Amino acid sequence: MEKHILSKSTFLRGVQCAKSLYLYKNFIQLRDSVSAEQQAIFNRGNKVGLLAQKLFLGGIDATSTKRSKNIASVEKTKQLIESGAKVIYEAAFQHQHVLAILDILVKVDEKWFAYEVKSSTKISATYLLDASLQYWVITNSGLPLEDISLITINNKYLRNGVIDLNQLFSITSIKEHALKNQDLINEKINLSKQVVVESRMPDIEIGEQCFTPYNCDFMGNCWKSVPKNSVFEITGIAKSEQFSLYNQGFKTIMEIPEINSLNEGVKTHIKSVKAGKPIIDLLAINQFLNKVEYPLFFMDFETFMPAIPIYDNTRPYQHIPFQYSLHYKKDKCAPIEHFCFLAEQGFDPRKLFIENLLKHSEGEGTVLVYDALMEKGVLNALKIEFPQYALNIDNLLNRIVDLMQPFQAKSYYHPDMKNSYSIKNLLHALVPELSYKNLKISSGSIAMVAFENMQTETDMFKILEIREQLLAYCELDTLSMVKIFEILEQQIK
Ligand code: SF4
Repeated sequence: MEKHILSKSTFLRGVQCAKSLYLYKNFIQLRDSVSAEQQAIFNRGNKVGLLAQKLFLGGIDATSTKRSKNIASVEKTKQLIESGAKVIYEAAFQHQHVLAILDILVKVDEKWFAYEVKSSTKISATYLLDASLQYWVITNSGLPLEDISLITINNKYLRNGVIDLNQLFSITSIKEHALKNQDLINEKINLSKQVVVESRMPDIEIGEQCFTPYNCDFMGNCWKSVPKNSVFEITGIAKSEQFSLYNQGFKTIMEIPEINSLNEGVKTHIKSVKAGKPIIDLLAINQFLNKVEYPLFFMDFETFMPAIPIYDNTRPYQHIPFQYSLHYKKDKCAPIEHFCFLAEQGFDPRKLFIENLLKHSEGEGTVLVYDALMEKGVLNALKIEFPQYALNIDNLLNRIVDLMQPFQAKSYYHPDMKNSYSIKNLLHALVPELSYKNLKISSGSIAMVAFENMQTETDMFKILEIREQLLAYCELDTLSMVKIFEILEQQIK
């Protein structure tokens, strides 16, 4: 058997963009490196895939460790089928140089059933295309399938004791879609094979395909000539509008003429970039500051969202709070104090989290939070989970003021905010000396992954290291809020 030309992932890559497929096959070294967040998504997928195998016990893994491992896996799958295996994990098939590795293959009453596992809670168009390709390869290679299904996560499942796999997973037959897609798959396979054998790179400009359905990992290469302050930094408009401006020749924000149809936020951004200085509405900032009363608390939570619930009374992908940072300022001239909490490894953190938080934030005064949606959502969930603290949680909720509000309302707009009011952009624009750059954990999603990984870590030194990194990250979040708030106060002075 000859080596495959296309696999499931390269097929999907080619469907998204022929140039991406060409670069992958010929210039892989130009590919962007995998981020910690992406790696975490892959790892999660693997974990979920392994657990889903337990829905069909006693299977044999067709993965091979030999040198030409894909060819060996196809051979092994064939032998397993011929020898009467009933359940095969990672079953490999090849047809016309297209390779498909299926998560689970099951034989019931002499009929074969195919299952593809996804760690998501929803079935996307890409999943349907991906499973349709599996169906094309498997059936054309000579194995008729009675059915093909997607196994996804049921986010309504509430863990109570040992995980109930039949409740945790949802199985949906997609055979009808697969059958409907067969001609399309055939056509796309032929187009992609042509791209692979061509000696010239497809002449494709950057476009909306760079983001759909996934962010392409050759953007570092294709987007390198896009200038700073480009029209793609205008985040308040649709991608199609950005490309429309770009393709009309307006490469940077400076070049954009007055466009009345743009919303006010976008106009403020353009005005501020063109002027090269912040736009400040002192009256609006003053109104915001009037809502705030000392003593001040600056509060930030970190949560993680395990796909497979770890604790009782939690659902898949539920936000589980495990850490907070709280800076405290008694009055305008008082020095800042810091309180924090970070859960220990291996325990449900929620009760200790809320007990400590209520203790550290008790009393009077405004609690400033940046983008309060998540913190309010977590507190409302904790109110139901621990009704004994409901009154105190309500009191805390009533004291919350969202520090994001004046920035979201563009009462204070700095050109470097790039029409985004994320705290990272804001910090970069307003307090560049405080930066996340030197931190090992530099975003909420990396913190999420680090804490989840810590649950299974056995090396004490590694655990201590992760804890230090998490503490440093969360503390910087609230310290940034203190600095940003001081800048607002200085404007009014
Ligand atoms: S960055 Fe865009 S144009 Fe370049 S390969 Fe990827 S999808 Fe294609």
